[in-house]
Amino acid sequence: KHLKAVHQKVKLFRANEPLLSVFMWGINHSINGLSHVNIPVMLMPDDFKAHTRIKVENHLFNKENMPSKFKFKEYCPMVFRNLRERFEIDDQEYMNSLTVTPPTGADSPGRSGARFLASGDKRFVIKTLISEEVAEMHHILKQYHQHIVERHAKTLLPQYLGMYRVTFNDQETYMIVMRNIFSARLNVHKKYDLKGSTVQRQASDKEKAKDLPTYKDNDFVSDGIAINVGPEAKEKLLEILSADVQFMSKNNLMDYSLLVGIHDVDRAEQEFNETFDEEGISEDDDSTGSGGGAAMATSPASPGGMDMCPTPPDSPLPVNATMNLQPFDGVIDSKLEKFAISSSEGASKREIYFMALIDILTHYGVKKRTAQAAKTVKHGAGAEISTVKPEQYAKRFLDFINNSLQ
Ligand code: AMP
Ligand code: AMP
Repeated sequence: KHLKAVHQKVKLFRANEPLLSVFMWGINHSINGLSHVNIPVMLMPDDFKAHTRIKVENHLFNKENMPSKFKFKEYCPMVFRNLRERFEIDDQEYMNSLTVTPPTGADSPGRSGARFLASGDKRFVIKTLISEEVAEMHHILKQYHQHIVERHAKTLLPQYLGMYRVTFNDQETYMIVMRNIFSARLNVHKKYDLKGSTVQRQASDKEKAKDLPTYKDNDFVSDGIAINVGPEAKEKLLEILSADVQFMSKNNLMDYSLLVGIHDVDRAEQEFNETFDEEGISEDDDSTGSGGGAAMATSPASPGGMDMCPTPPDSPLPVNATMNLQPFDGVIDSKLEKFAISSSEGASKREIYFMALIDILTHYGVKKRTAQAAKTVKHGAGAEISTVKPEQYAKRFLDFINNSLQ
């Protein structure tokens, strides 16, 4: 009985915007539906073209939380379920992460014009796509799936977990869910987006003003950053990256980046101690009760990526948020931190690196219809992008990463 009550509470899909309510409703609907569909021995060609679609019209029902009319479409549900399994993501956990608390994120579109959100527990990220990218996903999905199978899911490609379309008020929004490259436990202190190109590859002043700016190749070089993972990890990493990059060249994909997040272990320890001190003071002040919450809210040890999506103060904290209050014990949790590598024994600084590929859906020859592309063309740097072919892009990219790792 008690369980049922909890269940119903979850199903209101309360969020601060209708897009997210419908998204949460849709994820819940999708996973519940799939739980009644047998898992086949193998996927069929038609699974890569399939979709499910549902139209909902509510009359005076749950109208505080949901638009009265909306549609939800899921692309290739069997394929993405299979991918989730291969990436070791349990469907019930996936559903809970995305529906128990609403995803959070910046309201205004970022640099690429896409919106970027994170699940309440920070395990997953959600990005809006344009229809061309949805078409490109269909175009590469079979080869992508094949690659994941062949590589036994040992890949740095984005881990695509579900693709959806949300419609209400005659507005369509495409959304894709991926695994978060960063961890909910270890915050990222510095972040680079690396392409191996030098043209227009430095963070703008506006970007630098942010809490956690995304720095680029030229910043990386002038900062003199060494990603010191040691020869063994470097070799392993490059082997995986080469296979992934080969996959992208074969599929005419380019303009992708390696996202690098750096967690500074000593700095995190210091931040932890400062947070701990603040807590002590707040107890002396007799402001008990709010003390823990206040320390949490002002804690610099917010999870990586959380900067763009602060948890609203009134929303429940992620289940594992308390983990932020633990200093790093030197052990990477391979379930929580799939993309983490620690600095080598001999490194001058104790660091944890989070590295994986992002933005892989730009097809060579197809102009990227985004705000960023328009800006680049206006400033005359478009030539570089359009003359470099996927193979050249891949080589330059790998060379740069090879030189950046030690
Ligand atoms: P829609 O779902 O009709 O809004 O489609 C969004 C984009 O994805 C459009 O560019 C479609 O051409 C493309 N698309 C949708 N379904 C498929 C499919 N089964 N195969 C290939 N492309 C698709
Ligand atoms: P994008 O629009 O894909 O360039 O992403 C915008 C920003 O979101 C990037 O600069 C990254 O900082 C971040 N980001 C993109 N994908 C992921 C991911 N899978 N995990 C964590 N952060 C991501």
